[in-house]
Amino acid sequence: MRYPSKAEIMASEARCIYCAAPHTTVEHMPPISMFRGRKRPDGLVFAGCSACNNGTSAADLVAGFVARLSPRYDQDDWKIAEVRARSGMLEAQAPGFLHEFLDQAQRSVEWRRGPNGIHRQMVVSRQRGPLLRAYLDVFAAKLGMALYRHHCGHPLPLEGFVMCGAYLNAGLAPDTAKALLSIMPDQSGLRQGRRNHADDQFIYRFNTDERTVVAALAQFHDGLYVSALAFGTVDPYGQLPLLPHHRRVQPGDLPGMMPFRSRPWDVQNALLIKPVGSSPL
Ligand SMILES: [Zn+2]
Repeated sequence: MRYPSKAEIMASEARCIYCAAPHTTVEHMPPISMFRGRKRPDGLVFAGCSACNNGTSAADLVAGFVARLSPRYDQDDWKIAEVRARSGMLEAQAPGFLHEFLDQAQRSVEWRRGPNGIHRQMVVSRQRGPLLRAYLDVFAAKLGMALYRHHCGHPLPLEGFVMCGAYLNAGLAPDTAKALLSIMPDQSGLRQGRRNHADDQFIYRFNTDERTVVAALAQFHDGLYVSALAFGTVDPYGQLPLLPHHRRVQPGDLPGMMPFRSRPWDVQNALLIKPVGSSPL
């Protein structure tokens, strides 16, 4: 399968996939930083404006951080290494987030049943801090709008909306996951050829009419799940009830949902900051 080039994407799109503004940047969703060593297979590349793309990069960083935090004790070393290496940039772009997230009172070690039915010890994160929530809401909304563009062939209409939510590792109950997955028959991810894929880092199940609706449940590594339902119409079923822990987001909302508006010079400065030595875990 041949993916469109960046030039083709910029030439063919009508606007930013997240708002009404003209597009000026190439947007990767999921972001490059989500992948091990920034090695991201091609695909799911979009057109975005600078405010929605660069202005929400802190949300991408936070999502990549929590996604790498596996609930398993036997998790891969490279995830911990990448989490540590990014903590300085995270603190610069999302000030206060690490302090909020690493509050030990919000975490516990519990015995939980794993996917194979065997109980094992897991670190259970149950924090719902305002910064974490805000960043993951932005990230989830971006994914919903991006998948809508991908599957429906046009940006989410401005009167449309995304209902989205994010779950950390054990926060998504197996029963809920099973119920959500059962209504989503198709599975996709990022694949180039047969061998180059990143299914262990990003995969999603979805259902769509390929015109006005996309429902998706995405898994990032084994630390973050995102549920997103994108509707291209005002309210397709009258009064659609809001799912628990979900938020309703419309095109144009993203920059205003960010806890701190990042400015270009802040991002540049953040890139120069060396990682701090202390462990984030
Ligand atoms: Zn935009």
